[in-house]
Amino acid sequence: MSSSSAESTAFRSALEVVRSVEPRVAAAIGAELTDQRESLKLIASENYASPATLLAMGNWFSDKYAEGTVGRRFYAGCQNVDTVEALAAEHARELFGAAHAYVQPHSGIDANLVAFWAVLADRVEAPALRRAQARHVNDLTEQDWYALRRELGNQRMLGMSLDAGGHLTHGFRPNISGKMFDQRSYGTDPATGLIDYDKVAETAREFKPLILVGGYSAYPRKVNFRILREIADSVGATFMVDMAHFAGLVAGKVFTGDFDPVPHAHIVTTTTHKSLRGPRGGMVLCGPELADQVDRGCPMVLGGPLPHVMAAKAVALAEARRPDFADYAQRIVNNAQALADGLLRRGAKLVTGGTDNHLVLIDVTSYGLTGRQAEQALLDSGIVTNRNAVPQDPNGAWYTSGIRIGTPALTTRGLGTAQMDETAELIHTVLGQTTPGAGADGTASKAKYVLDDAVAEKVSQRAGELLAAFPLYPSVELS
Ligand code: PLP
Repeated sequence: MSSSSAESTAFRSALEVVRSVEPRVAAAIGAELTDQRESLKLIASENYASPATLLAMGNWFSDKYAEGTVGRRFYAGCQNVDTVEALAAEHARELFGAAHAYVQPHSGIDANLVAFWAVLADRVEAPALRRAQARHVNDLTEQDWYALRRELGNQRMLGMSLDAGGHLTHGFRPNISGKMFDQRSYGTDPATGLIDYDKVAETAREFKPLILVGGYSAYPRKVNFRILREIADSVGATFMVDMAHFAGLVAGKVFTGDFDPVPHAHIVTTTTHKSLRGPRGGMVLCGPELADQVDRGCPMVLGGPLPHVMAAKAVALAEARRPDFADYAQRIVNNAQALADGLLRRGAKLVTGGTDNHLVLIDVTSYGLTGRQAEQALLDSGIVTNRNAVPQDPNGAWYTSGIRIGTPALTTRGLGTAQMDETAELIHTVLGQTTPGAGADGTASKAKYVLDDAVAEKVSQRAGELLAAFPLYPSVELS
């Protein structure tokens, strides 16, 4: 049996079994594949995992509890979980050149919580914490616990602000990181949209953070991690990088030297499902100094590990170690740059004027729209994106003034730079022909918009034709 018919048989049989119990779930799974096949997916944080990665998740590993770490579990019978967790960690260490990898986090947010805990436990000098770590927990008095909570909850974090492209876990107020840490953020230069490293250094000198966080969700440029590490060192901060978005570019050696966070940061977190093209999940990489604390992630911050997802991480990381992954990573960036060029040539305004990673941030105020209006108009036209704040956003974090687009998913389908020009044309057509709408009372609305159905239909049809030449999961036929 060829591998492609093996994949079809595997997915078809799995759906048949699901259908026999709850047909509506089987139907929704099938419909999701159809939707993904038919939409032009430009969400910068999404991708398409390989059939092998997807199939590694649907099995009895899901039934196993395995709190603890490899060879040191709180449950019996974890030998097979040990195998996949050790394999995933080995692939991660080799791929990223890290001394230690912790592959249990269920998501990127969980990975960040594990990292915060590890740094706090390593750095906070509360005597009660030291005693608790030394396993004399029962000796602690109520006063010790009070002092411990006060110390742990009053540490300082400096991260990139949300509207400059940082993530909400980097100290944004609605997230726990912005509540448990005394938080300050750095932004970007209003004139260039780029990180102003001198300004970061100045803020760090004033604020003296315990943790300096690098990394982003919506910054379209390389970050110089060597400089950020120097800043962290100059104020005695632990340097953490959240590479959730660009882990695939690090894995594929597009970001090397000063732009590879792993040799520069004390601790690195990531998701596994974005540009890295693995299953949904998170990971933490660090040196030997923080390894013990990181390995306490479960049960300190995480529930029991997801062994089926760790199995899929091992598969996806093995894929990322193959030589063709470097080619894939480079094509992601080539495509993003071609998309940016195509948009610029048609008159769009881009934050920082372009990109050197996988994402492009369009400032849609130049089309007279909010991000919310633009996102919906594009969706009506078969183009899936997400609205995103731009630096100093006049429309706030809900309506926003930006559209974030990214190329990892389309690159996985095989689209190249020629198709990116066509994609830029489709986006520009929709945005250029959408106008702001009015609310029921006739006043200007930040959500309502007007787009001729015929335009939406024509773009949707052209997007469909574009995608038809690059079928998604061509090896999988469900009927
Ligand atoms: N960190 C960054 C930089 C992200 O962009 C994201 C998700 O968008 C996360 C963390 C959180 O990842 P997850 O959704 O897996 O919790």
